[in-house]
Amino acid sequence: MKSVKTLCPYCGVGCGLEVVHNPSETSGAIVDNWKVRGDRTHPSSQGMVCVKGATIIESIDRGRLLYPMFRESLDQPFRRISWEEALGRIVGEIQRVRADYGADSICMYGSGQFLTEDYYTAQKLIKGCLGTNNFDANSRLCMSSAVSGYKLSLGSDGPPACYEDLELTDCAFFVGSNAAECHPIVFNRFLKYRKRNPQVKLVVIDPRQTPTAETADLHLGITPGSDVDLFHAIAYLLIQWGQLNRDFIKNHTNNFAEYVALIQQYPPEDVAPRCGISVAQIEQAARYWADSQRVLSLWSMGLNQSSEGTAKVQSLINLHLLTGQIGKPGAGPFSLTGQPNAMGGREAGGLAHLLPGYRSVTSAQDRSDLEQFWGLPPGQISPQVGRSVWEMITGLEEGSVQLLWIAATNPLVSLPDLERTRQALAKSPFTIYQEAYYPTETADYAHLLLPATQWSEKTGVMTNSERRVTYCQAFHTPAGEAREDWAVFAEVGRRLGYEAQFPFTSVADVYAEFAQLTAGRVCDVSGLSHEILAQSGPQQWPFPQGSEPTSTAKRLYLDDHFPTANGRANFAPVHPRGLAEPPDLDYPFVLTTGRLYGHWHTQTRTGRIPKIQQMHPEPFLEVHPRDGQKLGVSEGEWVRVESRRGACRLQVKVTKAIAPGTVFVPMHWGSLWAQGAEVNNLTHPAACPISQQPELKACGVKIIVE
Ligand code: SF4
Repeated sequence: MKSVKTLCPYCGVGCGLEVVHNPSETSGAIVDNWKVRGDRTHPSSQGMVCVKGATIIESIDRGRLLYPMFRESLDQPFRRISWEEALGRIVGEIQRVRADYGADSICMYGSGQFLTEDYYTAQKLIKGCLGTNNFDANSRLCMSSAVSGYKLSLGSDGPPACYEDLELTDCAFFVGSNAAECHPIVFNRFLKYRKRNPQVKLVVIDPRQTPTAETADLHLGITPGSDVDLFHAIAYLLIQWGQLNRDFIKNHTNNFAEYVALIQQYPPEDVAPRCGISVAQIEQAARYWADSQRVLSLWSMGLNQSSEGTAKVQSLINLHLLTGQIGKPGAGPFSLTGQPNAMGGREAGGLAHLLPGYRSVTSAQDRSDLEQFWGLPPGQISPQVGRSVWEMITGLEEGSVQLLWIAATNPLVSLPDLERTRQALAKSPFTIYQEAYYPTETADYAHLLLPATQWSEKTGVMTNSERRVTYCQAFHTPAGEAREDWAVFAEVGRRLGYEAQFPFTSVADVYAEFAQLTAGRVCDVSGLSHEILAQSGPQQWPFPQGSEPTSTAKRLYLDDHFPTANGRANFAPVHPRGLAEPPDLDYPFVLTTGRLYGHWHTQTRTGRIPKIQQMHPEPFLEVHPRDGQKLGVSEGEWVRVESRRGACRLQVKVTKAIAPGTVFVPMHWGSLWAQGAEVNNLTHPAACPISQQPELKACGVKIIVE
């Protein structure tokens, strides 16, 4: 019986899967021929999987896009075309738009579902050969505040901690993270450890009483948008109690005096009402932090998806710097990545301000490094930061974007202010949509559809939240005429005249070239190759040339030296700004959004799996009983939820899990699965000015009883 080791392609936990072939089955359907189980040898997940990983095989043969399709305009039906015609049209459109409008009129919006090789080839095509930095990925909606927070506070992106720290900590703060549903195997590892060590504390900071919060020693159900206030109040108490690591602060940090001066403005008595919690709760959280030898903080979208996402991340990191809780086992700030390979994407330069190897488009040295390495003339890479995805949408509105290439993501469900997004896409002169599935909400707005291979059909690597790189091997024939994303980008590059830049004959060649570019960088994988990963199993970076494969966990900053200008980490003395759209008389509730356990990525896969559909049959609106009483609605009634941008129709769930004044709607239902219940009809695009990550987690709404 043949078996293949690979990685779950859903979330950033990055669980190892073992796929076992049953040779007695002859139906040809993947679901009959292969069975999935957790890979016990994978260090990140140790054989565990959640419902998504366990059922992934059921999604492979359902609803696939099988061949290229084209239409001149959105009011026409698609017609099947050959790959030859599709590639010809792409090359022709790129040449025409570049000549008539300039390269900055061309944009690509990619995905944390890409393999690292897909990401890397796309950067070379868009940023290198075309000379525009208009490549952004759906990581913009997910992790870009973590990226900018790490960079500003610690000098570089890259989570310092690893999963083993979940089993070495004295106290874990899960902040804006419903890990029990969104990163279940990470949470399971922590819960198992805590069961054996009941003295270990769990603090959950979340406006909702999620399944994560239900298990906490302390749940701080704060008012949405009050995170920075809370972190500063905890810092106030730590300073007042003298619970500082003075040696660490003196030798390894900058800006301490400014930070302390700012923190004096955040006594818990002032902060508690703003956070909607008691002074005693803030004191308890600070006490847990102060009394612990090793504190780990884990966060996710609750911090990142905010118009002050970078400030939130930095304010949390401040607490680690204040107490020296970083660069040692069991401690540190730890972002839980949403997408399976958003980490690999960052390594490969897959955001509009990045270049491969954690380089920046604004650095002349970094651009020059890349131009030389890629064999491109000096000045070929633009010094301008490219468009974030929302700037691509506004570019379509104003006509400055003439060609949009979307790949492996579904923005017509996941972007904010969906009606505005729909109208912008409807104006797009030429939209290419490269995707494994059909139909999707975004396919309705495309001119050219390109069928992409997906998990099981493509080979390459992905990096999970703990910097662990796993080799994912193809073991199943691609559906229809589906092609690998990297191969499509390389072929378009060659047809545009960049034969020398795309000499790859295999995906291993692509990885080998990318890995060379990381030598000496924080995310160094120059010692890794497909061959090593296939033979020795998943490896964490840094993995410089000459490294030996190891199962020993790796952490960053163990020497307390940070990759900043002077080697010291930076305190961030920042004041909170609060929500971009706070509740008011017209829109009195704060809407917050989140994931359900079985859902993923706008349901392009999970919506096609019967077991998951049965788990989460329909969307809903969570309302606190007190608000339900005020509104005169009870469980099961239908209401209309309106924001300044749009509306949803939803069934009410009355629950004390949500705080009064706040309502919750799950986020993965698009029009394909629940017409009229798409929560992003309501959300707004106001974004963090540093990370450009939109505030998908909070907007003002009103509720109208039908
Ligand atoms: Fe896949 Fe994430 Fe579930 Fe692990 S926790 S099996 S990576 S969805």
